[in-house]
Amino acid sequence: MVKTKKTQKKSDESLVKKARWLACALTNQPLQQRIVCDAFGNVFNKEAILKCLIEKTMPEGFNHIRSIKDVFDLHFTRNQKYDETQQIHVGMEGSLLDSPFECPLTGKPVNGQHAFSALRSCGHVFSDKGLQEILADSNCFVCQKHFRESDVVILNPPEDVLFELRVKFLEQMKEKKAERKKEKVKDTKTKEKANEKTKEKLEKDQQKGKEVDKEKVKNEANTEKAKEETKKRKIAPTDPNPSNPKKPKTTPQQPPNVRNVMAVSSSLNQISQSHDLKKQSSNAYKSIFSTAPSFAPQYLTGIVKGVIK
Ligand SMILES: [Zn+2]
Repeated sequence: MVKTKKTQKKSDESLVKKARWLACALTNQPLQQRIVCDAFGNVFNKEAILKCLIEKTMPEGFNHIRSIKDVFDLHFTRNQKYDETQQIHVGMEGSLLDSPFECPLTGKPVNGQHAFSALRSCGHVFSDKGLQEILADSNCFVCQKHFRESDVVILNPPEDVLFELRVKFLEQMKEKKAERKKEKVKDTKTKEKANEKTKEKLEKDQQKGKEVDKEKVKNEANTEKAKEETKKRKIAPTDPNPSNPKKPKTTPQQPPNVRNVMAVSSSLNQISQSHDLKKQSSNAYKSIFSTAPSFAPQYLTGIVKGVIK
């Protein structure tokens, strides 16, 4: 009777262990197609993790999972002999050795009776016995991807190992935090330095700008002065009136024909003042057209005619 009770207790414990291995650590639902694992070897359905992350409802025991990057995909090897009709839940009679997953190297079932580990580098899962065989080679037996010892994650580790893992995790967190703080201080210092440099440059530029402006004003003043002087030199000898600088220095020399006409006009005036108008005007008329026949303007002809009458 005592022996039967002991056997029953052991059987129940085994089933609990098995359930732990084949159920999602978040929801206790059977593991499905997409499975992930965290740093402590807990196994989850990926959908459950995503849901908790999106809805921000991650339970306290799993708040080390802050993003999907804190878990990695697991690839179990399917047990071809596994009966799909078997249900995986605690207390199911005769299902102790049945498991949908097995070790690809040793064929041992994932049922809580054997220790299993996963490779973070590729996600493939091996029994610890199988893993021993490939550790020396450091290449995954399934996908041949190289792995380091630090890539090995013990799945559902015993309490003492889990404790060590948690301590290690906390230390790493502290280190990361200190590093971030250091980085932040460095960033602030770099920014301050950059700001100082920018400020210095601005000040220099402003100073330079002022000097350039001064030089420009000076140059402009010089140019203006030079212009003034040139103007004065041009105007001074002939025209005392600076408002009319373009006025020619001397009266331009008239062409010979014009000079003749002017002379004739002058002599006509003298003639008209005399009493011997008819005779002398006739001579003058002749004189105009003999000296400047092509140049005599019409008004002059009129004057002459008027005088002759
Ligand atoms: Zn692999």
